[in-house]
Amino acid sequence: RRVAELANSSGPGRTADGASVSLLVNIGGAGDLAGAAATDCEGVGLLRTEFLFLDRAAEPGRAEQRRGYADVFAAFAGRKVVVRTLDAGADKPLGFVDHGAEPNPALGVRGLRLAVRHPAMLDEQLAAIAAAREDQDADVWVMAPMVSTPAEARDFAERAKKHGLPVAGVMVEVPAAALRAERVLAGCDFASIGTNDLGQYTFAADRMAGELAGLLDPWQPALLDLVRCTAAAGTEAGKPVGVCGEAAGDPLLSLVLVGLGVTSLSMAPPAVAAVRVALAAHTLAQCEELADLALTADDAVAARDRVAAHARPR
Ligand code: PEP
Ligand code: MG
Repeated sequence: RRVAELANSSGPGRTADGASVSLLVNIGGAGDLAGAAATDCEGVGLLRTEFLFLDRAAEPGRAEQRRGYADVFAAFAGRKVVVRTLDAGADKPLGFVDHGAEPNPALGVRGLRLAVRHPAMLDEQLAAIAAAREDQDADVWVMAPMVSTPAEARDFAERAKKHGLPVAGVMVEVPAAALRAERVLAGCDFASIGTNDLGQYTFAADRMAGELAGLLDPWQPALLDLVRCTAAAGTEAGKPVGVCGEAAGDPLLSLVLVGLGVTSLSMAPPAVAAVRVALAAHTLAQCEELADLALTADDAVAARDRVAAHARPR
């Protein structure tokens, strides 16, 4: 068993019967880069670009941004890097933008909504990503945060393509986008589910409120239902749907996510090895059975208990 585990602890992610699941890492700045790049993974599933913009008195120029992105692309040469465009607003205000007074910032002008208000900022960022991509051989994808409608997805993808960026998708973090995933995906190339925000908006529970942790538990069957809905739309359209929220790094929950139909998992680098081992111990059909057990549970605790009782021991 030990030998089998070692054999399963490197290389591309796959289930016991060989269904491939891309294992990717989330990174949030240059500080994470060396450790992340040394991780045995297929690339970056979520590059949070806020590190270039926060705590600044002025917007970073195109050349500076280009260097920041090029460093990541160089570290992941030959691998995939999914760059998320700026996700500011709400808890991440910008020093060089007047956000105005918002009584409910999490429900206000954040993520792509801020880019719609300031299109030149998004254009500068996309131009810098495109320029950095020219110098490097990473497989660069771009995606927008906080997308709510099919029109937003289509407009973002069209804008990315005008900059010469060939693969453009969206994060699914708002229940409306999950419910209408089929139409959202019709206008772009892929979706990546952000379970942190999707949980917050599904349960109307502030993700920073420790008191509401039970509602924000990624095992909540209602959240998993929205994952199922989004993944099914991806399967139908033949377009990739991944998960890049914290849920993806829980080995037991990763089985459920794969059973629900997602094709990639992006997580903190230290989580990758355990997720790879868990997947290698289960067939896709077993993952689907575990997903059913979770979906038909009444609450998060019951969902986790049922799956833990039926998954193969690690
Ligand atoms: C998420 O919301 O799940 C996500 C991955 O984005 P962030 O945590 O950066 O909001
Ligand atoms: Mg988010």
